[in-house]
Amino acid sequence: MDHAPERRIRPTALLALLLATATAHAAGFDITPLGTHGGLTDGNLSAYLIRDHNSPNAILCDAGTILPGLEIATRDGAFNDIPQPATSTLTKPGYILTHAIKAYLISHAHMDHIAGLVAISPDDTLKPIYALPETNAALQQNIFNWQIWPNLTDQGAQPRLNRYTYQNLPPETATPIPQTGLSVTAYPLSHGNVLSTAFLIQNGPDAYLYLGDTGPDPIEHSKNLTTLWQAITPILRSGHLLGLSIECSYDDSRPDKQLYGHLSPHWLLQTLNTLDTLSDQHALAKTPILITHIKPTLTTGTQPETRIAQQIEALNTHHFHFIIARQGITLHLSPPLH
Ligand SMILES: [Zn+2]
Ligand SMILES: [Zn+2]
Repeated sequence: MDHAPERRIRPTALLALLLATATAHAAGFDITPLGTHGGLTDGNLSAYLIRDHNSPNAILCDAGTILPGLEIATRDGAFNDIPQPATSTLTKPGYILTHAIKAYLISHAHMDHIAGLVAISPDDTLKPIYALPETNAALQQNIFNWQIWPNLTDQGAQPRLNRYTYQNLPPETATPIPQTGLSVTAYPLSHGNVLSTAFLIQNGPDAYLYLGDTGPDPIEHSKNLTTLWQAITPILRSGHLLGLSIECSYDDSRPDKQLYGHLSPHWLLQTLNTLDTLSDQHALAKTPILITHIKPTLTTGTQPETRIAQQIEALNTHHFHFIIARQGITLHLSPPLH
């Protein structure tokens, strides 16, 4: 268990040049968490900025916290490679928001996944919101409806201010995200009484899998996680799944009947072992697994993050490479050197 993301050693300049000529698309991903918690801390809620190593143009998977996360990530050097014109009067976080983030991908419309989007929207630039139709409908009916917030979108209550464009994702179908070189494929997840989403992000042959909130299949009376694992097994086997993020909201002292559509360590390991069995080559052991959505508490003593890390490691018989997500700390995922 790492407590900060490892920085995979980037190839030397010469190797990078050789790789660039050998493979047209082997660019990998940078994953910058703008917020990682599953509640309580309104400056640190689920939001993950994802981009090609070599491009400033990013997508944001969930948007629970935006500006505080951009400020911390900027301080930690996450955007040092993104030049800002000398004539720009924007702060660096302002520049990243308005010029680098090209699209939002929203897994579900719970507040800890959209609060940052709502807060930043009056100063944002034109952007698409990609989501399953149910999630976009929830945003339209319950948030951007002139009662909770002005309708900055292109559908629903009049007048429509057209800053955000709802883009409904057809499930299990790759959709290109303009200006990013990335594509997204949405898979449904079961999250209590709410439909949630996993996004498979593809960059040429390489892929990163982001899971929104999800409960275990047996508790949810669902096959969604198993179906997702079956869908991504070919990519995992091929060595092109460079990483995945999955939630672990509670520690194992949480009773199953109080999981409310979330995972705890023993359920997390059970479902990842299913994926490992499907791939049958232990490819998952080589894939960094980012743990997200840990719920803080208001109590003193050992914190949930520490307990969850210990419990996961105690159950980690397949030697998976777990990393606890940290706000502002970028995970660099490079394609393997074939
Ligand atoms: Zn959540
Ligand atoms: Zn949720």
